Amino acid sequence: MKIAVIGAGIVGISSANWLQKYGQDVTLFDMNDPGSQASFGNAGTYARYANIPTNSSSFFYLFPYLLLNKNSPLFIRFKRLNKTLPWILNYLYNCRNSNVNTTTNNLTKLLSKMDDGYEELFKEAGVEPYLSRKAVMYGWSTKLFFNSAKKDFSKREQTGIKIQVLSHDEISDLEPNINNIFYKGALFEGSYFAKNPKKVSQLLINLFVNKGGIFKKEKVTNIENLEKSKLQITTGSTSEVFDRVIIASGVWSKSLVEATGDKVPLEAERGYHIVNPDLKDVISRPISWQERGTYFTPMEDGLRTGGIVEFGDTDYEENPKVINFLERALKSIFPQSNRPTQSWVGFRPSVPDSLPVIGQSSKNPYIYYCFGHQHIGWSLGGISGKLIAQKICANKTDIDLAPYSLERL
Ligand SMILES: Cc1cc2nc3c(=O)[nH]c(=O)nc-3n(C[C@H](O)[C@H](O)[C@H](O)COP(=O)(O)OP(=O)(O)OC[C@H]3O[C@@H](n4cnc5c(N)ncnc54)[C@H](O)[C@@H]3O)c2cc1C
Repeated sequence: MKIAVIGAGIVGISSANWLQKYGQDVTLFDMNDPGSQASFGNAGTYARYANIPTNSSSFFYLFPYLLLNKNSPLFIRFKRLNKTLPWILNYLYNCRNSNVNTTTNNLTKLLSKMDDGYEELFKEAGVEPYLSRKAVMYGWSTKLFFNSAKKDFSKREQTGIKIQVLSHDEISDLEPNINNIFYKGALFEGSYFAKNPKKVSQLLINLFVNKGGIFKKEKVTNIENLEKSKLQITTGSTSEVFDRVIIASGVWSKSLVEATGDKVPLEAERGYHIVNPDLKDVISRPISWQERGTYFTPMEDGLRTGGIVEFGDTDYEENPKVINFLERALKSIFPQSNRPTQSWVGFRPSVPDSLPVIGQSSKNPYIYYCFGHQHIGWSLGGISGKLIAQKICANKTDIDLAPYSLERL
């Protein structure tokens, strides 16, 4: 079959590679460079343990505090609040225990297969030199937050990962160059990280193209249903006919989905990072300061300090308050740091129940969806791509896709 994948973030790139493995003739479209959006600016962690959604029950109770406290990692852009408010209310509604349990169970199923989605692709693409197998560390600076987080450890262990709790001194032994403000920490065995996410995406694109896949740097503006199960994709410069189309366009999937006649409550959970080349190799693994929702990741070009959630639009205007927040967090852990040399804002594609959408359009059986991977798309891109490829090519998937269908929303 001739298949178009729209979006060359990690989800689209993985989908394209898996479709090719299943013998399909694939064209991948992106209006930007491959892997240049959310898939570029993330904290790089392959977080198999990350099965508890951000909008958990404690998030609901802490919401007013999170909004008002200057040390909280939650921000809202008031500019577009009339558009985002219904989504935010839906997101808060999903903090109910029963919804959180459903989301946790369904994320666990995907995360348990995280490595199945990547291992083969990474090996063939030669990605290993750009990864580090050092486990991700969480740190809590207060006893109160550590005790609250500890309650979820067994849920996290369901993904097959062991958690090693660290004392204050053990953290210093592990990472001697930090200003150790942590009361306790935790290591998630089996987690790992990318030292250069952009390079990882590039190598996966090279793999795809070297095997005969086509990448087109073009914006898809329309998908039209022609007779006899044919779909016409229109871009700024061309029109081409395909048998199947996958919308894997991150946060921008919303308008393409709506053009097919479906509706999706998809919004941006904006995230930021800043880069300090002066702190290159100062730590050996990603450290997440949990109270601040901030990750410090040792990337090839320096220390990347990133994270936070800002509800809002998909414009690239940076909020100086967020940059200031990240710089303060950085100074607390790395008092020796200079001013960062770069800053970045990007968009986590999120639906209110914090589960991705992976499945078939209800309006057109030849159009498929694979987006909405919120905070853990870097981890789930591979397995999501494999599952959607199985759905199209074999109609038999390693995991039942019903919980991830658009109809649930
Ligand atoms: C600060 C931050 C930290 C994060 N940390 C982690 C982490 O440590 N671990 C983890 O697992 N996840 C993390 N994430 C989440 C992860 O980065 C995302 O979930 C993931 O990258 C989403 O991938 P994607 O392919 O769906 O979207 P994207 O990477 O945004 O790609 C979508 C692509 O579609 C293209 N596109 C859109 N519309 C069109 C169109 N009409 N025509 C052509 N092309 C189009 C875009 O140009 C874009 O390249 C983080 C995110 C952020 C912002």
